[in-house]
Amino acid sequence: MIIAIDGPSGAGKSTVSKAVARKLGFSCLDTGAMYRSIAWFALREGVELSDAASLGVIARAKEISFGLTPGDPLPSKVYIDGIDVTRDIRTARIDKAVSAVAAHPSVREALVMQQQRIGANGNYVVEGRDIGTAVFPHAEVKVFLTASDEQRALRRLRQNKRRGIGSTDYEEVLSDIKARDRFDSSRAASPLKPAEDAVLLDSSTLSIDEVVGSICDLAQE
Ligand code: C5P
Repeated sequence: MIIAIDGPSGAGKSTVSKAVARKLGFSCLDTGAMYRSIAWFALREGVELSDAASLGVIARAKEISFGLTPGDPLPSKVYIDGIDVTRDIRTARIDKAVSAVAAHPSVREALVMQQQRIGANGNYVVEGRDIGTAVFPHAEVKVFLTASDEQRALRRLRQNKRRGIGSTDYEEVLSDIKARDRFDSSRAASPLKPAEDAVLLDSSTLSIDEVVGSICDLAQE
């Protein structure tokens, strides 16, 4: 079974996906981490963010994998080409670069194939921007999770502070998520939008527990 959770930055997708996966005994896949890893690799190699061909080569050739930390059954580590980039993909620099990388069809095609291969292995909660529309259009459960801009910025800010990485300036975080949402929603390839059959949930009016409960109910219907 696939549970697809899409939505803009900071809507609470990661927290919700992990909680749903734990409750249902599923695994989970953070597709944003995959786009971030390609952006990280491209910046390290000095590849221009507009160079669709070179970015496509990286996305096709470099293996992205996920790893566990002891005591946690859900993946929390991210590797590209065997390099642990778990923390490095969460910096403000990657926040600013990732949407340009993710807009290239050459990158998306390669990563979507990897995501479909991973999801074919069992029960997954998959979070991203195009999971219900493009990656798993036949997912059994599709949710589009939103929240107000301010709530999303606050959530991201708290997450950055907790992790000790990324911007801790509210205005910077707010302007970054707005810019990313604009970019992600207006790109030609798989823009951010709810699937026609997605259930819309707003995490500014519902608690995380309520959101998790609703998704588990949908999965058990
Ligand atoms: O979810 P996260 O904020 O880590 O995603 C980072 C970026 O990766 C998004 O802003 C978007 O540009 C891109 N992305 C995407 N499609 C996905 C997941 C993420 O285009 N399925």
